[in-house]
Amino acid sequence: MYNAPGPKMTDTNLYDLDFPRLQEWVASWDEPAYRARQIWNWLYVNPVASFDEMTNLPQPLRERLQEAATLDVLKPVSEMHSADGQTTKLLFELPDGQLVETVRMDYQNRHTLCVSTQAGCAMGCVFCATGQMGFFRHLTVGEIVAQVMFFARRLAAEELRITNVVLMGMGEPLHNYDNTLQAIDRITAQDGLNLGARKITISTVGLVPAIRRYADERRQTPLAVSLHAATDEERDRLIPINRRWPIAELMDAIRYLIDQTGRRVTIEWALIAGENDTVEQARKLGHLLQGMLVHVNLIPLNPTAGYGGRPSSRPSVQAFQDELERHGVSSTVRVRRGIDIQAGCGQLRDRMVQSRAQQQPATPD
Ligand code: SAH
Ligand code: SF4
Repeated sequence: MYNAPGPKMTDTNLYDLDFPRLQEWVASWDEPAYRARQIWNWLYVNPVASFDEMTNLPQPLRERLQEAATLDVLKPVSEMHSADGQTTKLLFELPDGQLVETVRMDYQNRHTLCVSTQAGCAMGCVFCATGQMGFFRHLTVGEIVAQVMFFARRLAAEELRITNVVLMGMGEPLHNYDNTLQAIDRITAQDGLNLGARKITISTVGLVPAIRRYADERRQTPLAVSLHAATDEERDRLIPINRRWPIAELMDAIRYLIDQTGRRVTIEWALIAGENDTVEQARKLGHLLQGMLVHVNLIPLNPTAGYGGRPSSRPSVQAFQDELERHGVSSTVRVRRGIDIQAGCGQLRDRMVQSRAQQQPATPD
């Protein structure tokens, strides 16, 4: 199933086009204007995976589309299911050979997608598999949208719909600011997939100028900030970008965001045993967040190949949460879903690249 040739790099990824650009494109082919709406509906309203399925388009137009465009910018190269069946992870290859991951999580009536915004990441957080691999490139709007539509089509076949999208896959969404926000505009468009803007979460490592810019846009889509440490000394160690924008500046930006939008901000905290999971750290975090419109997500660390840290024990997690509570700071302990399939950020790609490297013929010495 996964051996079909991928699209040519010259093919237009139709998911890269917003509606006005699709209209222009169709007009440049001397097609009637209404064809743009028909194609749009096959992309987003009754999404199909091939031009052949666009049954209200004349055959010559379908063939022409087949020649010049693609809906399949993502070539699935590996698919894994967690033992409980609730998490599915796809590794996709892009036309230039880059690999990105998308994760689907099914829980009760929620169907959440975890989407990538970059191939690799430039931020170098030490505990993160994507950070450990470095930065390759930004994803285009269409490559971000295509991840969502791939799963939208699958879910539709099961008579289900995507309920939530989190931009917590590979990459730093606010480093790829314009493409990320355009992708959000696309999947929230009312004449398309029509996902609620509040049902999407942008997770950021804390790029201060980008958070301020985002605040000024006063959008409905909430932000999660990956804090992970309450002192600069500790955060510098885990998250190199903290040296550029230290905690005080980040907290100011978060306050500004809350002021501008009136929306609660999520604070992400990966609990690493003996590193950032002590009651002392919880107290510092409590001081930092006291009185702010925030909620803390506590996530026991997902171990990665390039970092020796271990997840916190249950009692430490409980003690950490209790201490936050004493400061009136609400928190939830999140279970990292799909650990058995390396569903943590960047981990599947890591394994794939390693096994490909092992398949290379050994050079004799
Ligand atoms: N770049 C963005 C979004 C992608 S990472 C960000 O950093 O927020 C999504 C979340 O996964 C972040 O909160 C990140 O800190 C966290 N994360 C990365 N590696 C992890 C690991 N090994 N264990 C637990 N959480 C991890
Ligand atoms: Fe990049 Fe986020 Fe990983 Fe840090 S945690 S390296 S910002 S993807």
